[in-house]
Amino acid sequence: MGRRKKIVQECERLMDKPENIRNIAIAAHVDHGKTTLSDNLLAGAGMISDETAGQQLAMDTEEDEQERGITIDAANVSMTHEWNDKNHLINLIDTPGHVDFGGDVTRAMRAVDGALVVVDAVEGAMPQTETVLRQALREGVKPALFINKVDRLINELQEGPEEMQRRLLDVIDDVNELIRGMLEEEDYDWSVSVEDGTVAFGSALYKWGVSMPSMEETGISFGDIIEMERNDERQELHERTPLSDVVLDMVAEHFPNPLQAQPSRVPRIWRGDAESDLAHQMRDVEDEGDVVFMVTDIGMDPHAGEIATGRVFSGTIKKGQELFVSGTAGKNRVQSVGIFMGGEREELDRGVPAGNIAAVTGLRDAIAGSTVSSVEMTPFESIEHISEPVITKS
Ligand code: GDP
Repeated sequence: MGRRKKIVQECERLMDKPENIRNIAIAAHVDHGKTTLSDNLLAGAGMISDETAGQQLAMDTEEDEQERGITIDAANVSMTHEWNDKNHLINLIDTPGHVDFGGDVTRAMRAVDGALVVVDAVEGAMPQTETVLRQALREGVKPALFINKVDRLINELQEGPEEMQRRLLDVIDDVNELIRGMLEEEDYDWSVSVEDGTVAFGSALYKWGVSMPSMEETGISFGDIIEMERNDERQELHERTPLSDVVLDMVAEHFPNPLQAQPSRVPRIWRGDAESDLAHQMRDVEDEGDVVFMVTDIGMDPHAGEIATGRVFSGTIKKGQELFVSGTAGKNRVQSVGIFMGGEREELDRGVPAGNIAAVTGLRDAIAGSTVSSVEMTPFESIEHISEPVITKS
């Protein structure tokens, strides 16, 4: 059996175990390294070859994007990662890095429970860092921080361990200041910290990364990193502390699974009757309940036509179901359901249960933002477009 087939089978197995699922987005200011990091994760999960990670730009599915060098359409991919002796299904939604596409970023946030915010170590938090954080927190999505391009501190800025640490702490402080300014009083404390393990740093270009737990495990210090970067031992650094493992461990450990996330997310994004059966089914991630699917993106497939991507909040979405689409009359029939693997859609014979991200064809009346369901229901709250940062960094 081919490697891809094996990964698909494993994803199918894990789909039924919501406690092992993490739905995440990577969001960043343009050029801070979101695409390069995504490729690292795909390579780490065996989806693309290690050598091509960073060059292949697997998430940039449209030729146009590759030519322009910016990611304009949210692409999605499912991968598996072992953490704590258990395999996890990581559904990653890519988000556009360009500020004009703020609407797409917010839509992507609706489908996920954790946001990995990437910040360039040299540039620090920038206006779009603030925008994506605001979008995440507004949707009830938990942030974690990856400080990228640390190799530049060593090689371009020639910083020593103390200077480097000070700079990294400044970035963390700035990000936390933004987070605290955005949280409502009743929200959790979602500030990030090295000690908690919700911050990692590294180089997506050279494929190494560290976090507090990883440094404890590998024994690699800042001094070692500086020495290895300077001595051109990056390959060894990558092998000893691969970025994908460090980041995916952080994702598995610190982002909530759908069972933990949906009870607090559903009241935030849906204003229907909180005591209804449907509300309970959505909060409980009930895979045998009524089908509720929130469309976050519509893509085009040259063969299959329009593909609706989104989050299944309740029930199991299956081929042949006749589903209501909010704001339209009549029902649409599901033609196929599947998941995304390395930018390609993989149709599945089975249905996709609550807690997962699904790619669905046949929903011809759906648009990004539609609520698709087996019973007539109050649609999800409309997704607000936030494009302009309110405060800019001086
Ligand atoms: P995105 O716009 O956030 O998706 O950023 P990209 O992943 O496309 O990266 C933007 C540029 O930064 C590219 O030229 C990358 O090669 C470069 N880059 C990404 N990560 C690193 C890194 O860790 N170190 C250095 N020096 N350059 C990086």
